[in-house]
Amino acid sequence: MTLISLLQAGIIFLQEKGIENARQESEILLAETLGLSPIDLYLNASRVISYQDRKNFLKWLKERAKHRPLQYILGYTEFMGLRLKVREGVFIPRPETEILVETVLKTQRGFRTILDIGTGSGAIAIALVKFLLEAKIYANDISKEAITLARKNAKETEIDGQIEFVEGNILIPERLKGKIDLIISNPPYIKRTEIPYLPPEVSDFEPWIALDGGEDGFSFYQRIAEQASIYLSPKGILSLEVDDKNASQVVEILNKNNK
Ligand code: SAM
Ligand code: GLN
Repeated sequence: MTLISLLQAGIIFLQEKGIENARQESEILLAETLGLSPIDLYLNASRVISYQDRKNFLKWLKERAKHRPLQYILGYTEFMGLRLKVREGVFIPRPETEILVETVLKTQRGFRTILDIGTGSGAIAIALVKFLLEAKIYANDISKEAITLARKNAKETEIDGQIEFVEGNILIPERLKGKIDLIISNPPYIKRTEIPYLPPEVSDFEPWIALDGGEDGFSFYQRIAEQASIYLSPKGILSLEVDDKNASQVVEILNKNNK
């Protein structure tokens, strides 16, 4: 069987199973199976594919058809030009979170002491050290699996010891009172009752603890807002990802707590 006919079969398979970007995802999975980049597929269209490679490709297609996220199948994702390892048990970094990081970098402030709350795979912290060579970043997460993975991801980018990962509940070291230049977070912000209605890729495969923003979806904003003014330095900034529809309510929570 040639590469191009296997690819066509893969696309039809995923389309029939209701996967939206069937072509693109088939290309990515086949390319990964063969150790090629997706653009090279078409240059190798008439290549004959071995039995083992066909078998591996089909196994992945079947996992994807069950709505297992593509990133968990591949074992990695891209974030701010970095390749990060991802796996079940840890939230997959989203493209929209790149906007949070870019917005902070655009302020061009010389952030020295930074706190990333709920670091997950380490995406935000690791992307920041790439650009802020003098920063010291504290990154915490309540999930042990997340911290273990974030440490592995950081090894490939950070300069020794620039990021300190701490496992714990929104834990902020006491000694940082009044000293943090930037508190950044993409906290869980989905209303608890809405989680089952998210796409199956999210609700069936990603950790609920990464999504669950409490009964109203605002519990983390409330908790972070209470702590922020105690821990930020006089010119410090708080930078949070929010769902569009929640923005004005989050601003209200922050204003109430701005002492
Ligand atoms: N920052 C990562 C990113 O943007 O890809 C992960 C964001 S994910 C939406 C939220 C993260 O907060 C998860 O990794 C979850 O484990 C963590 N988390 C949930 N409850 C927490 C708590 N009480 N304290 C610290 N982290 C928590
Ligand atoms: N953006 C995520 C989603 O699409 C939710 C992220 C979060 O709760 N911080 O489900």
